Amino acid sequence: MIVVMKPNQGEDVIQKVVKKLQNNGYRIYESRGVNNVLIAAVGGDDKYDYIKQALESIDGVERVIPIFAPYKLASREFRKEDTVIRVGDLSIGGKQLQIMAGPCAVESREQLLEIATLVRDSGVRILRGGAYKPRTSPYAFHGLEEKGLEYLAEAREKTGLYIVTEVMDPRKVELVAQYADILQIGARNMQNFPLLMEVAKYNKPVLLKRGLSATIEEWIMAAEYIMSQGNHQVILCERGIRSFESIYTRNLLDLSVVPILKELTHLPVIVDPSHGTGKWRLVAPMARAAIAAGADGLMIEVHHHPEEAVCDGPQCLKPRVFKELLKEVEKIASVMGRTGD
Ligand code: PEP
Ligand code: MN
Repeated sequence: MIVVMKPNQGEDVIQKVVKKLQNNGYRIYESRGVNNVLIAAVGGDDKYDYIKQALESIDGVERVIPIFAPYKLASREFRKEDTVIRVGDLSIGGKQLQIMAGPCAVESREQLLEIATLVRDSGVRILRGGAYKPRTSPYAFHGLEEKGLEYLAEAREKTGLYIVTEVMDPRKVELVAQYADILQIGARNMQNFPLLMEVAKYNKPVLLKRGLSATIEEWIMAAEYIMSQGNHQVILCERGIRSFESIYTRNLLDLSVVPILKELTHLPVIVDPSHGTGKWRLVAPMARAAIAAGADGLMIEVHHHPEEAVCDGPQCLKPRVFKELLKEVEKIASVMGRTGD
């Protein structure tokens, strides 16, 4: 439930409400505006009728509203305004779109620095690249691991780009968090609950990719896991879901999910048309469509020699095509009113 306080209440009244809820087994999350306070209370829902009456009789409480969705903190009911996540001097979920671009995997120091430089020179601010790669085959390349993280840190140092990189193992979160500006949870781990709980412990934005066959509710509930541990900096990333098609597209990129998530949640939503389609020719049209659908940004795989990439070469954009796409995105962004800060 959400307890809406009357404007300009003193701390004593707010604490009275908080105590009442806590004594009845609720967990409390506050959302404070300039002069209004919302208190979300989670758990103990069998007591809803009793607690609603008790709270509404406290002078200072405007009203008590149930949240019917199973997710609470992620819901629009809890927070009406869009969440804007700060990464250094950047905002994700604000007016300005953010593009995250780079190779699928960090393959070598030279490869990463070359791609990072072209990403930076094209005006993009966030570099992607996996040091830990979730691969279907145990015999495939699984990433350079800590060496890869070191190369990412060097690329950040040299280019000023921020880094988003995947963490797959709860035991590695501490290490990856030392290098990453944004921690990525891959599609295969969207419901790895111990991992979600672990990434929540670090005060870092988390990019949460949609699971291979996750429903929208399952996906938002995964975000709720992270938020319920006190980290509200979650960015949702649509990356395509399984369908019966296996030849012409790798996944089915669900763009309808963008306006749906915008209605249901206040979290930033970005789209990854690279994994979403698996084909470089489809990346630009789907990237344009994603921005037109209201996405807050894109994640795009870029490689200077896709034919030599150790993974996902067929979906990587070459530099020229990537730069062309950025120009198109800029035009659509301006139509959507998504320029400036
Ligand atoms: C990735 O972005 O590197 C990746 C592995 O994507 P996904 O988890 O969406 O398959
Ligand atoms: Mn990839």
